Amino acid sequence: MTGTMTSDLPINLGPNQAHPNRGHGLRRDDGDNDGNSPVMTGKRPPAKNTKLPQLLRVITKTLTMKTVIVTGASSGIGQGIAIAFGELGANVIVNYHSDKKGATDTLKKIQEAGGQGYIHQADVSKESEAMELINKAIETYNGFDILINNAGIQMDNSFSKMTLDEWTGVIDTNLTGQFLCAREAIKHFEKKKQTDTCKGNIIFISSVHDLIPWAGHVNYASSKGGILMLMKSLALEVAPKKIRINAISPGAIATDINEEAWSDEKKKKELLKLIPYQRIGNVEDIGKAAVWLGSDDSDYVIGTTIYIDGGMTLYPGFVDNG
Ligand code: NAD
Repeated sequence: MTGTMTSDLPINLGPNQAHPNRGHGLRRDDGDNDGNSPVMTGKRPPAKNTKLPQLLRVITKTLTMKTVIVTGASSGIGQGIAIAFGELGANVIVNYHSDKKGATDTLKKIQEAGGQGYIHQADVSKESEAMELINKAIETYNGFDILINNAGIQMDNSFSKMTLDEWTGVIDTNLTGQFLCAREAIKHFEKKKQTDTCKGNIIFISSVHDLIPWAGHVNYASSKGGILMLMKSLALEVAPKKIRINAISPGAIATDINEEAWSDEKKKKELLKLIPYQRIGNVEDIGKAAVWLGSDDSDYVIGTTIYIDGGMTLYPGFVDNG
């Protein structure tokens, strides 16, 4: 815990309180600010929620001046993460693939909570679109601080029936899409002035299936297994440059991607057998961890995966087999 734990409101940072590495977003004294960004004209309004618990207030302080890109933020976990950052006063770029209404809803909730941002359509598996997503954020906010690599899909089939389209469709979005966005983010972070503190942060949204094999979902499990080593190898490569790379691996979180597994009571009962904590997760469970991992309070966390899964990775089949 830092000394700021004992500090009280207000939660917005004045110019002299800003963290030295936060040279993007709205700071005007970072040397690489050309002053052309539409958001550079004044002080950020403070995050509105002043009734946050003390720990969250500390995290808020470190996020209020940050700019975050969340891919696949029109629904589910991406939407939950985007809103969680928005609630803490960050600028949030809400990427979506095809659900413009979902993205607009996400942005509205961010704005109602005191954050700001914009929506951006891009298919992250397409190189030019991924590059445009990142570059527009850099132009708009004179840089950015955090990438949440969240977009992902499932196209399930038994192995012998799996088509090449089902294989490449999942790998292209889940693995190549995360690679492309991460590469563009790293190019930007590497250009930032070197300091003693973190100058860029990427959080990969993986899955418990980067660890747990999944029959009938070989393409999905392969994509998530790939993310594990992409994340770790990249973390090793860029840590000396003060760029932090980590992952969050959710277990069963109730979203569109797995609706058939939790909306049917019988299937839900089966699913709960795999979850020692005996509840299905929600997007807020992931959002809360993401804002901590995105904040300076997790500064020493590098190359780690946080499993948020109600204990799913504890081999629950062994609970009564001692
Ligand atoms: P979801 O279907 O609600 O969200 C996926 C999002 O990705 C959607 O908004 C979709 O439009 C977007 N997307 C898909 N292809 C895209 C592309 N090419 N470009 C840009 N965006 C694209 O499901 P979710 O559960 O919120 O999934 C989010 C992430 O969490 C995924 O990576 C998924 O693998 C991972 N995950 C989810 C669970 C779970 O239980 N829900 C568990 C483990 C991991």
